Amino acid sequence: MQFKDVVGQESVKSHLIQEYKSNRVSHAQMFLGPRGANKLPLAIAFSQLLLCQNPQESDSCGQCESCKQVQNYSHPDLHFAFPAFGSEKERGPLNGERERKWLENLKENPLFDYEHWSDVIGAGGKLLSLGRFEGDSISKKLSLKSFSGGYKIMIIWLQELMNQTCANNLLKILEEPPAKTLFILISENTENSLPTIVSRTQIITIPKLSDQAILQGIEGRQLVGITAEEVVRRANGNLLEAWEVIKGSEKKELFLDQFMHLMRSCYTKDVSKMLDWSEGASKLGRDGLVDFLSYSLYMTRQSLMSNYQSELTNHSSAEAAFLNKFARFINGNNVQKIYEEINQTSYFIQRNCNPKIMLTGLTFQIMRELHKA
Ligand SMILES: [Zn+2]
Repeated sequence: MQFKDVVGQESVKSHLIQEYKSNRVSHAQMFLGPRGANKLPLAIAFSQLLLCQNPQESDSCGQCESCKQVQNYSHPDLHFAFPAFGSEKERGPLNGERERKWLENLKENPLFDYEHWSDVIGAGGKLLSLGRFEGDSISKKLSLKSFSGGYKIMIIWLQELMNQTCANNLLKILEEPPAKTLFILISENTENSLPTIVSRTQIITIPKLSDQAILQGIEGRQLVGITAEEVVRRANGNLLEAWEVIKGSEKKELFLDQFMHLMRSCYTKDVSKMLDWSEGASKLGRDGLVDFLSYSLYMTRQSLMSNYQSELTNHSSAEAAFLNKFARFINGNNVQKIYEEINQTSYFIQRNCNPKIMLTGLTFQIMRELHKA
């Protein structure tokens, strides 16, 4: 990963390049900044520059053997430490598998967050930390001689998750650092960090991304039912958030489509379409259906509200167009019952009742309610 592949953060990049050119690379640095601001990608691009055999004016060459190894995440002098879960006994045996997942994940996209990593390793809500095992492997990896004769780099992702043992271990190394070793601690906050660690690192403040950088970061992604300006506004300098907003709007578009089909077939009392809809929607799967039904509750509420308020905010243009036509069929006489029916369907689907039967039942209830005088 070269600096040119990392969107935004121009002033941080030039600071790091300056540090490198003037031969004043501090041996322990902390990249401190908010979620989704490209901290880890910057650390990797900086490492690539430091290890490059043919550095250019303001970036690594991207071509030499060393750059290729960094790009593959196989450089023998670039190491990572990352949080995991489980007892100290469990961590060792599981580590090989986790290292593999970590590298795969970096190759896919080096910008991700705690929640994503927690999903990747299947933590299922268990807290992640850097514990004794991780502390020991940091010392072990750094005790090896540098393969290339240059820097040995250790990137510690989310240093704030170090427990006391791991932090003490790191502190010992920071007090007497092996020659030509560079630590980059990635961090979102330092509130729970050992003050002695923080004071031994040079803090590089990573600000949130500029709107321009967010625009670059979403280039090439297909936008469904949302404009780039809206994505940028909601991302507020967080590229991960921007990607989530895009994903969320795709899902919303799908749900709106399902909701429109449901309501149209019920309103026209077209039983065969109602059955088709139930069959099709049941394929969303249990979690998908629960999400869809909660979206349906939201749209039902919005329908009722738009009878009283002329302008509702936060709708996509497709939602607004649908509400404009449909809202008048939801009123004080039927809203309560429709709401209850949707809620109950969701309740039973979560408890593993047959979704197709539950959805078919729902369509008949909604049909009845929509035609109440
Ligand atoms: Zn190179």
